[in-house]
Amino acid sequence: MLKIGCHLSAAKGYWAMGRDALSIGANTFQFFTRNPRGGKARAIDPEDERKFLTLMREHEMGPVVAHAPYTMNVCSASEKTREFGCSVLADDLSRLERLPGTYYNFHPGSHVGQGVEEGVRMIADALNRVLTPDLQTVVLLETMAGKGTEVGRSFEEIREILDRVQCTEKLGVCLDTCHVFDAGYPIDSDPDGVLEEFDRVIGLKRLRAVHLNDSKNSRGSRKDRHELIGEGNIGFEALLRFIRRPALRNLPLILETPNDLAGHGQEIKKISEFWRKSEDNG
Ligand code: FE
Ligand code: FE
Ligand code: ZN
Repeated sequence: MLKIGCHLSAAKGYWAMGRDALSIGANTFQFFTRNPRGGKARAIDPEDERKFLTLMREHEMGPVVAHAPYTMNVCSASEKTREFGCSVLADDLSRLERLPGTYYNFHPGSHVGQGVEEGVRMIADALNRVLTPDLQTVVLLETMAGKGTEVGRSFEEIREILDRVQCTEKLGVCLDTCHVFDAGYPIDSDPDGVLEEFDRVIGLKRLRAVHLNDSKNSRGSRKDRHELIGEGNIGFEALLRFIRRPALRNLPLILETPNDLAGHGQEIKKISEFWRKSEDNG
């Protein structure tokens, strides 16, 4: 079965997101754990959580993906910013223990001129502080486009973070198709090759979720501007070919395309139809 959904606004709570997802034919979704620019998380609402978990079970939804605020930078040059990032990480993870099976995705960070090696060291340090063996949530490192001084542009950089973390069984990777394309990987022309490379460097067992986006820019541009599926430089056919790879079976595919709820519904419908047709044709 295809697991597909989109990024949703968390403003109305978990249950409302679940209902929105269902209304557009999605069986997973992603949300920001708090204001994407940082700030305080919403108050815990046990009734909302209970209704949401029931809805998930009834409709066989999930796993869903929680996304950390993108301003969180655990490899900043400022100790205050790093500490703030660590406290957000820790707080988000403790809240997510209430929603078992949810993934926690975050952007590894920007080294802001300190160098990739130092960035990798700081990111691993942060993870070693917050990951404990009893944690239920699996934390996902997102592959990045390499805009500015972003760490995680290459599979090797992700590998280096993984190698430095102790509770490595709590770590996975979320592959963003726009990001890997903008980082230079030929996901448009050689999706199998990209996955082979991922397997060789990181290991396919780490791949737990996909951000399904087209790209406004060209391969290797290091820009990170998402486009609607089929309207960018990767293209509908290539993205569909990619999600049909056996390694992606049953992984949550999350659209982060510039669209509203109804528009996302149309994208999901189109992708599901083509996916079903290609399944029938073997
Ligand atoms: Fe992201
Ligand atoms: Fe993404
Ligand atoms: Zn992006």
